[in-house]
Amino acid sequence: ASPRTYPARTWAEVDLGRLRENTRALARVAAPARLMAVVKADGYGHGAVPAARAALEGGASALAVARPDEAIPLRDAGIEAPVLVFAPASPEEVDLYGRLHLTATVVGRDQAAALARAAREQGVRLAAHVKVDTGMGRLGFLPDEALAFWEELRGLEGLELEGLYTHFATADEPEAAYARLQWQRFRGLVDHLEARGVRPPLVHAANSAALLRMPEARLDLVRAGIALYGVRPPNTPPRTHLAPALTWKCRVSTVRTLPPGWGVSYGKEFVAWRPSRVATLAVGYADGYRRSSAHRAQVLLQGRRVPLIGRVTMDQVMVDVTELDGDPGSEAVLLGGTGPHAIEPEEVAAWMETIPYEVFTGLSARVERRYV
Ligand code: PLP
Repeated sequence: ASPRTYPARTWAEVDLGRLRENTRALARVAAPARLMAVVKADGYGHGAVPAARAALEGGASALAVARPDEAIPLRDAGIEAPVLVFAPASPEEVDLYGRLHLTATVVGRDQAAALARAAREQGVRLAAHVKVDTGMGRLGFLPDEALAFWEELRGLEGLELEGLYTHFATADEPEAAYARLQWQRFRGLVDHLEARGVRPPLVHAANSAALLRMPEARLDLVRAGIALYGVRPPNTPPRTHLAPALTWKCRVSTVRTLPPGWGVSYGKEFVAWRPSRVATLAVGYADGYRRSSAHRAQVLLQGRRVPLIGRVTMDQVMVDVTELDGDPGSEAVLLGGTGPHAIEPEEVAAWMETIPYEVFTGLSARVERRYV
């Protein structure tokens, strides 16, 4: 029997219509720049294939993943859109890039030379985007090395130079000066290349935050991730309507009344001070419901918020339903929901002392994805 024959105890409902609408809204903002939908890390936990399809239906014209093997399910599903891989390509992956028509990222001379050699040996030609580090301090050429590098690469058989890109470190921070500095460095490089007759076909810089906040940085293409999934990055104008696509739910296992003085969960950090109705929910840190959310988190039962009590355990958490009128029901909403009490991804992230990106990508394989 497949484990999926039995009902899941915790699941994420992904509303693909919302993902499509978010993409449509972002594509309108980006135009005439094209929209690349970032579906790395299994579509930020939403499921890479359904997320990619919804984004392409909503107007995205390309996809991006972090690692080349993340593109395999996309191609297996028959998705033919261009796929850029953010990680620097290594020569032993050339066959995969060739077979799946992936676009490689090049970040250094030796890497590019080895890649081109492997491509020639295998009789393939790889589309490549050159990464420039304008201040993220992670990957790429420094701007003043980039022109010489571009010239060298142009002569390299096996690679087809298709793009030039950079990545912002602070596009969603309150202070805009550093992102502007990165932008000026990139713009300066592009101008410098153009003055020498070099115009890479696809020049790109913007992530979701820069797309919404820095119109000048939209260029030929924008690489949107988090906003597709319905989270507006901090410090961006609220004009574009985005709706979270994912609702995280779990089952209510039992509801019991515990007497005053009864401890709840490991460490006995919560002790009932009155006769307390306590619901045990089938979700824990092994599902991605992080321990750090104890003492702050709330969940929705029957559309009303109730507090989590005691520590998060591996597979279960407890909530105090003493104040809830009537039956707590059989399902709890951990993130999402409708109505005035809906739980926003940002709120869950704050409880977990992290950011929505990590909440979504932290949903473990045990959380079934359902598409609505
Ligand atoms: N571009 C690159 C190179 C990235 O690594 C990422 C994600 O981290 C993105 C774009 C998308 O960023 P966001 O999800 O903030 O839109």
